[in-house]
Amino acid sequence: MQPNVIILLGPPGAGKGTQAVHISEQYDLPQISTGNLFRENLRQNTPIGQKAKAYMDKGELAPDEIVVEMLFNRIQKDDCQNGYILDGFPRTIPQAEALDRRIGDEAHIVAISIEVPDEMIVERLSGRLVCEECGTPFHRTNLPPKKEGICDRCGGHLVQRADDSEKVVRDRLTVYHTQTEPLKGYYEKQEKLVLVNGAVNKEKTVAEIDQTLEKFFR
Ligand SMILES: [Zn+2]
Repeated sequence: MQPNVIILLGPPGAGKGTQAVHISEQYDLPQISTGNLFRENLRQNTPIGQKAKAYMDKGELAPDEIVVEMLFNRIQKDDCQNGYILDGFPRTIPQAEALDRRIGDEAHIVAISIEVPDEMIVERLSGRLVCEECGTPFHRTNLPPKKEGICDRCGGHLVQRADDSEKVVRDRLTVYHTQTEPLKGYYEKQEKLVLVNGAVNKEKTVAEIDQTLEKFFR
């Protein structure tokens, strides 16, 4: 049987993680994110985790080969036999080519791109606030605290994480557009690309993804 491989594409803040959780529950497929791969390999101190750690200790990003090797180790496990969801991989054309060399002939693949305009991403991410004391999340417009700058729960100060500053968000979007977005063309040529609207509420995006996957699994 061909494994069903669902690749989630989209800018940071498009809701890939949320959708991956939904698909994972709906279709009983494991969700594989590169963040989790790194955490698992570091925690279990695997040989590849040790290699990754050497780069991270130097403050460098682990190269493609390491990410690819972690992924290939992971998809050999029993729970991936029927398929799996990839969230955050591939991130570049060379990663997609490596994946195709490995599974392209044997897997049934769909790439779902969650489309959200840049300005909406900036508003979503740079509006996020978190309580310094208790960690409760807020949002300037979507989930504002009762009193500006103050946590509803504990009265602590609300702050913006450095990762959520507008400058950092715009830089991440630039990286997405230059390195990751070309994957849409890559999968379109293979007739595996589906675009869904991520600029609407979460439930509508879920419904669009479900429609896509019903066809995919048929
Ligand atoms: Zn608080």
